This record gives sequence, C-alpha cells and structure tokens, in this order.
Amino acid sequence: MTSLDGLPLRPELRGRTPYGAPQLQVKHRLNTNENPHPLPDALLADLADALGRAAAGLNRYPDRDALALRGDLARYLRQTSGVALEPAQVWAANGSNEVLQQVLQAFGGAGRTALGFTPSYSMHPIISAGTGTGWVDGRRRADFTIDTADAVAQVRAVRPDVVFVTSPNNPTGTAVALGTIEAIHDATEGIVVVDEAYAEFARAGTPSALTLLAGRPRLVVSRTMSKAFGMAGLRLGYLAADRAVVDALQLVRLPYHLGSLTQAAARTALAHTDALLATVDAVKAERDRIVAALPALGLTSVPSDANFVLFGRFADARAAWQALLDRDVLVRDVGLPGWLRVTAGTAEETDAFLTALGEVAATAAGHGGGSAA
Ligand SMILES: *Cc1c(COP(=O)(O)O)cnc(C)c1O
Repeated sequence: MTSLDGLPLRPELRGRTPYGAPQLQVKHRLNTNENPHPLPDALLADLADALGRAAAGLNRYPDRDALALRGDLARYLRQTSGVALEPAQVWAANGSNEVLQQVLQAFGGAGRTALGFTPSYSMHPIISAGTGTGWVDGRRRADFTIDTADAVAQVRAVRPDVVFVTSPNNPTGTAVALGTIEAIHDATEGIVVVDEAYAEFARAGTPSALTLLAGRPRLVVSRTMSKAFGMAGLRLGYLAADRAVVDALQLVRLPYHLGSLTQAAARTALAHTDALLATVDAVKAERDRIVAALPALGLTSVPSDANFVLFGRFADARAAWQALLDRDVLVRDVGLPGWLRVTAGTAEETDAFLTALGEVAATAAGHGGGSAA
C-alpha cells in the first residue's frame, strides 16, 4: 500500500481530511443531529410492504425522474410552508449532500467560486473541493449571526458563482432573517443556496426561504429527511427552486441516481409525515431544557432554531469533549475554540448529558474568553 502522496491525486485534494464525525459505540450518541425517537410501528409495517413490492421490480431501472416522489415532496412543502410548488420545481437525491453536489456540478466547477459564511456546515467547502469549485470563507459577527451589510459587501467583493446560507445554521443553530437572504440574493448574479436541513425545528414564527422563491430563479432551498423526519439512514435530500434550476441539474445527475428502494421508502415515510414529525415538538422541548440548564452550570449557548445546541465556553473544549466521552456521552467538537455542539433528542438523553456536563463543567468552564455565565 502506498500513501496518498504516491498517487496522482488532484493537487487541490492533497493534504485534505475527509468528513469524519466519529462513529463510536457510546451509550449516548449526541454528535450527528439524528432524531433518536424510534420510527412508528405503522410506518415500519408499511415500509416492509412497500419495499417488498419495490423489490419485485429491481430487475428494471428506477423512475429516472422520481416524479411521484417529487410530487409528494412538493405537497409536503406546500402543507408546511403554504408555498405552492410544482413537482417540476422539486428535485431529490441521495441526501441533501448529493443535491448540493449536483448544484455545484452545474453552477460551480473549475474556475468558479463558492462563498459561505463560516462557521457553517463543514460539507459545503468539502463538496466544493470535490467538484473543483474554489471556496471562500465568509465572515460572521462574533455572536455568529450574519451582518447583512457586511455579507452584501463580501458577496460584491468575491463575486461568487454560488453562495451558501445555512438557516438554521449548523453548528451554531440560529436561523437567518429572510431580509438577509434577500439582500445576499440581490447582491449576486450567482446561485444562492439556502440549506434548510433543520427548518422543521425552527422557533415559532421563523419563515422558510421557500416563501422567497417566487420571482427569484437563482434561489435554491435544500431540505433533508435526515433530521426532523428521523430517516438519516434513508439518504433522501431534496431542493425546491425554479424549474429551470431543476432542468440544469438533469445535465449533471447520474442516470437512475435514486434507487427504486429509496424512492419507495421515501414515499412511504412521507405518507406518515404527521407521525414522524410528532416528535419534533418533544425534541424542541429538550433543546430548550438544555439551553435553560446551562447558566446554572456556568455555561452559555447560542440561540438555537435546530435540534442541537452550541454550548460553552470552555477553556479547553477538546478536554471537555473527552471528559464527556469518558462519561459515555458523545458530543461534537466542531473545531470552534471554547464551544461544543450537542444534539437534542429524548428526555433520557438530556438527563444523561446534563448530569455528565454538571461534573465536567465544575472543573472546565469559565476560562475560554470570559463569557461563561
Ligand atoms: C445534516 C445536514 C445536512 C443533511 O445532509 P443529508 O445528506 O441530507 O443527510 C445538510 N445540511 C446541513 C447543514 C446539515 O447539518
């Protein structure tokens, strides 16, 4: 076996590290923002049935355009956001990561640039690198919010071909005001991708960027079934945009990219939307319980519209991460000095997390920059 240096690897990939959230056998896995609630029995029964029927057709290629599934997704978005969408305005792939990759294949690529406001989703620069798209780290305020005027200035200076706005943002948790998204959109001639992976968890009164789509053919809103729907193993992500954007994606998608089993499982899950999303309020309540418990531990958090909380500050976040892991609680070290991210899930997980954190915080908090309480 040789090392990567012994291979004729593309130069821009040299020295990079792959996406790598640890997959450890730990009692409480609170590091990848999955929904821990078990899937409803009625859904599992219907899945067995639907997958059995789809399996009988596996000798044939799947519906290349996934039309029925896209119709179901358009209906779900309409029901939850009030925005009327045609199936032709919706596109689906194996996780929203594949959707984003297709967007960059079509609108980024060699000689082109993507801009995102960091810290944000670590996969945006990784998918940019994989598609040969240049990447520029945009700025945020110290409190991790986006300053609209500064964002507009950055977009005007960089002139990116693709701009990413993650709302609610990962790893910080806060949703972005629609006015900021509009201003960013109006400052660029490129594609603006609003990554709404956590939209279903947003605090009441937080509108979706879906409401901005009409009349903005360069705006794209991506969603996923990995988080609120509790179907991370399914690998189903999707976007809504002008139908011309969807037409452009057809130029780069692999034929038959979305397997028959995935399409059947996703449609079955969408038929159980109400039961699947019934856990969202409970998860939000656990998120809010975590936020409320932090000050008594000498810790603070960033306002969250998601199913996770960025909490701190620690003099040594890595040591705090390890100390929690030693207590069977796996959280995420997102590489932000002083901060860690925890996924909100069941009440039992919150109890275990807060108990472990109480022990850890007693020794670790308060020296990471002076805003501990
Ligand atoms: C988890 C997450 C996704 C989801 O990716 P999938 O490929 O759909 O599982 C997308 N964007 C952000 C910001 C995320 O945190």
